[in-house]
Amino acid sequence: MNLIDKIFKFNGGINAETKKNISTSMAVEKIEIPKKLILPLRQHIGNMPKIKVSTGDYVLKGQLIAEADGNVSAAIHAPTSGEIKSIEKLLIPHPSGLPDYCIVIAPDMKDQWIKKSSIDWKKIGLDQTIKLLLNSGIVGLGGAAFPSHLKLGLNRTNKIDTLIVNAAECEPYITCDDMLMREKSEELMKGIQLVQELLGAKETIIGIEDNKPEALDKINFYINKKSSITAKVVPTIYPSGDAKRLIYLINGIKIPKQKRAAEYGIQMFNVATIIAIYRFINFGEPSLSRIVTITGNLHKPRNYEVLFGTSLKDLIKKSGGQINKNNTFIMGGPMMGFKLPSIDISVTKTMNCVISAEQDMIEEKNEPLPCIRCSKCAEACPVELQPQELFWFSKSDQFEKAQNYNLFDCIECGCCSYVCPSNIPLVQFYRYAKSEIIADNIAKEEAGIARDRNDFRILRLEREKKERAERNAKRKLESSSNDKSKLIEEKRAEIAAALGRINKDEKIK
Ligand code: SF4
Ligand code: SF4
Repeated sequence: MNLIDKIFKFNGGINAETKKNISTSMAVEKIEIPKKLILPLRQHIGNMPKIKVSTGDYVLKGQLIAEADGNVSAAIHAPTSGEIKSIEKLLIPHPSGLPDYCIVIAPDMKDQWIKKSSIDWKKIGLDQTIKLLLNSGIVGLGGAAFPSHLKLGLNRTNKIDTLIVNAAECEPYITCDDMLMREKSEELMKGIQLVQELLGAKETIIGIEDNKPEALDKINFYINKKSSITAKVVPTIYPSGDAKRLIYLINGIKIPKQKRAAEYGIQMFNVATIIAIYRFINFGEPSLSRIVTITGNLHKPRNYEVLFGTSLKDLIKKSGGQINKNNTFIMGGPMMGFKLPSIDISVTKTMNCVISAEQDMIEEKNEPLPCIRCSKCAEACPVELQPQELFWFSKSDQFEKAQNYNLFDCIECGCCSYVCPSNIPLVQFYRYAKSEIIADNIAKEEAGIARDRNDFRILRLEREKKERAERNAKRKLESSSNDKSKLIEEKRAEIAAALGRINKDEKIK
């Protein structure tokens, strides 16, 4: 068996029911331009972009409306032409349910583009190309939303040998990448070729789960024996799509904690992100839309290609609404997603899937029972942690010990909670412990800053006092020496006057 056929199975993971076929029976439907687009400014990891438009402005499709603020940021563009109606705080897809800044566009239905032009990246060079990508608005569309120009090489220090294309899509229910590969395989393969060249990588390996035979057939159609691109089929086991798990499955390299894949000559991109990069370089199109899976307890679950900013509520309506009305929706997958506080939100770059919760998802689990030390959680943990110990330390607020047991390596995949016979919501305890540690660190940092500020203030006051004293002493000295000189002058004048008188008297004599 050669390396390309060998699979390096990682520890643990689970075989959950995938429920993917619910949303793959129909082709991706392209949604028409809606009457209103709501574009949250926070759709990615990093700084919030700087707004470049005002209410009342007319914008063209693809026009920059918010510019990346620094390197770790991403721009936002108008998904179609129209008028900027408002810039205000509105609900965004976030577990907090708190509003945040959004740009609202009223489309004029003309869908008029800005002047687009392709990028001759070989001519302008990689650095210039990556600078242009900084304002392409492209972020990881697999859900991570990390700005793509950073992965492509801004300030790149590591040589990349292998591009790994993440086509695993391991969470149950989510099928947007599967459908994209089935329907846009040619564009994807051209994109892979381009990204491989941009990275200067020798080879590309597409990691795809064995539950996507149609997509695999489409990809294999474009792969020939001489190609530097290969597809590697990995078993359907959650969480095979986690970056470090997929790298291990494919080439047996274990990326240690606190290390990045790039340090091992590997860079990874999701399939949808690759197509976005391809369209930007080849057609000058920034990131304006994505495919989103709307599935679960709905009459017509399906994948839709939508402009960013499209109403989620409208998509749910388009999918026939809920079969059993329970008003519970999950964004992302059932393992790592979160319950949406409201569906009065819009589609963003991170929204790969929305699940209308099935009955078994919302039924209250039985009350948690005490841990019976069965070790099932440890067997399921793909990061090889000790979940039961982490649970105990988190529950008893022994945060230092939890950190010593590598709490922050936990990827919150939920495998441990899934297998726990005592129904303990383990991940919730880890999230609690992490948030407490982070809050404590912030408080310490703030206290440190306050202490530093106070120390600085004391030093400044002491320095000022000393300077004042020195100035006073100098002034005193100057004034006393002035007094002395004045006295001497006066004495001199007196002596001169006396001498003058004596001389005069002598002359009279
Ligand atoms: S699976 Fe649950 S009961 Fe078993 S050791 Fe882990 S936490 Fe305890
Ligand atoms: S949630 Fe964390 S501790 Fe539990 S299985 Fe996943 S990585 Fe391991």
